[in-house]
Amino acid sequence: MDVDEFIFNMTALTNNQSSYLLQHLHAIQYQYSYIPEQAVTLLANRLSLTEAHIQGVVGFYSFLHDSPRGTFDVLMSNNITDDIRGGLALTEKLYSELGVLPGVPRRDGRVTVDTTSCIGMSDHGPSMLVNGRTITHLDNKRVEDIIGFIESGTAIEKWPKRFFQIKDNIQRRDILLSDDSKSGDVLRTFNQQGSDHILQELEASGLRGRGGAGFTTAMKWRLCQQTDADQRYVVCNADEGEPGTFKDRVLLNSYADKVFEGMTLCAGIIGSRKGFLYLRGEYHYLRPALEVTLHNRRKQGLLGSNILGQSNFEFDIEIHMGAGAYICGEESALIESLEGKRGIPRKRPPFPVTQGYKNKPTVVNNVETFMTAALVAIHGATWLRSVGTKESTGSKLLSVSGDCSKPGVYEYPYGVTIEQILSDSGASNSQVVQVAGAAGITLAADEFQRRIAFEDISTAGSIMVFNQQRNLLDMVKNFTHFFVHESCGFCTPCRVGTSLMKDLVKKVHSGHASEYDLGEIRNIARLMQASSHCGLGATAPNSVLDTLEKFPQIYDQRLKHTDYEPAFDLDASLEEARSINGRDDADAHIGTAS
Ligand code: SF4
Repeated sequence: MDVDEFIFNMTALTNNQSSYLLQHLHAIQYQYSYIPEQAVTLLANRLSLTEAHIQGVVGFYSFLHDSPRGTFDVLMSNNITDDIRGGLALTEKLYSELGVLPGVPRRDGRVTVDTTSCIGMSDHGPSMLVNGRTITHLDNKRVEDIIGFIESGTAIEKWPKRFFQIKDNIQRRDILLSDDSKSGDVLRTFNQQGSDHILQELEASGLRGRGGAGFTTAMKWRLCQQTDADQRYVVCNADEGEPGTFKDRVLLNSYADKVFEGMTLCAGIIGSRKGFLYLRGEYHYLRPALEVTLHNRRKQGLLGSNILGQSNFEFDIEIHMGAGAYICGEESALIESLEGKRGIPRKRPPFPVTQGYKNKPTVVNNVETFMTAALVAIHGATWLRSVGTKESTGSKLLSVSGDCSKPGVYEYPYGVTIEQILSDSGASNSQVVQVAGAAGITLAADEFQRRIAFEDISTAGSIMVFNQQRNLLDMVKNFTHFFVHESCGFCTPCRVGTSLMKDLVKKVHSGHASEYDLGEIRNIARLMQASSHCGLGATAPNSVLDTLEKFPQIYDQRLKHTDYEPAFDLDASLEEARSINGRDDADAHIGTAS
């Protein structure tokens, strides 16, 4: 199908509002593996946007491309948990055996290989996306098979089904995951008890958002309800991108009906007719089943107009796909993305709850928060207060991965200690636990008595374990690389700071840094914390600062005891040229030539 015909068919069937730009681009990318120039022109006319705006959006999202990719577009997940399970070596194997450079399509157009940030499969060993489809449990054998399929041009639909198997890996259930309520129970309770009563129960339960910030859910919903507007929106943030987290994947796979029930409850309370599930691009494989769940709810009268026979209760949910931008997990960036723009965080206040999607009051909650709120509506405040601590009521889902024998999803009452989590997940000889992803906290062994709770360590759910054999600088290097990739580039302290930080950590890692460089790291970190526009820049240096403070020896051991050495190593940078020319003699090295 040519581009004009495809765009015509697509836009004839779907929405022509500019807020649907990202969704249109997804469809075009899926069809052509990139966004052709003609498509940009056609979309600009169709959506009344400038071509420059569309090109800016394409350039922002890492899953969109303005030039062709290979027929097989391979993206290796490069989270540190993939690296320590052999992911780095497997990536190198793909590059060398397929004869490609990172991100550059092979001359015959057959394949592109590149890396991407954590794809939410840290409990499944090294993983990759091929043409958007997730393949897990990579090892030498599986990668060799994949290389064979690519070289023979075997359509991905014919690759063994076992490659694509993804399990929930639920290792521990508590009040949330063991609930046996049925579809519609929440909304029937809502119909009987009304908004005020449910809001009072939510308030009494002490429910706080499960995304990490911990804002009181009842307060957020009440603020939105009380803001004067002709339309309000409900948005479920399913863009879990915190490296090492995957529990929303499991909720959306096996508990989506309860998540949608929570969104519909919220709509009934705040008076919303429209909701969005913003699903991260990496979880595209979940979409068909989610659409079926939505369809079934419409058939049961749990979505659409006259919900459960109430003439004034109308609400529906649309799924919008993200496109590989970690920053879109930040709620105002997510809203920008939902509006079809680049995901650049907004200045706050105003907060989305009063001025969110299309500047209307909008509740943005995490997947786990919506499900928990739904169950509080049925079981009441005491149900949530039956577990947890005074300030952190209820339970928390944790994604546990890294050096442990039982990675997976663990549901614990708030207040659980790190030590307990390590014991249950089969971790031994642990050196550090990284909580809350790359921007989180690095806990040393003498801190394993600390607790997961808003009053101690708050997290959206990522727990990555590293044993005594691990080089912590590998972890720090991985995280600094992650932030360079994921900084949205809007403000200088973060855009430049993440890049300088990455170079300095690399310099330490390669044994070329001095005390001076450690001072520079601290200076840059302070600047980023004080003047970044959003939380990404402010928290990006956390792992460097934590390890500098708690494990100074890992830096000291690598220092050159000179006052200063330049960050740019000219001799090392010429390595590639030397290998192409087949030279490694003294004359080919800077500083050794006679
Ligand atoms: Fe973008 Fe980073 Fe600035 Fe946040 S801090 S707005 S992610 S550049």
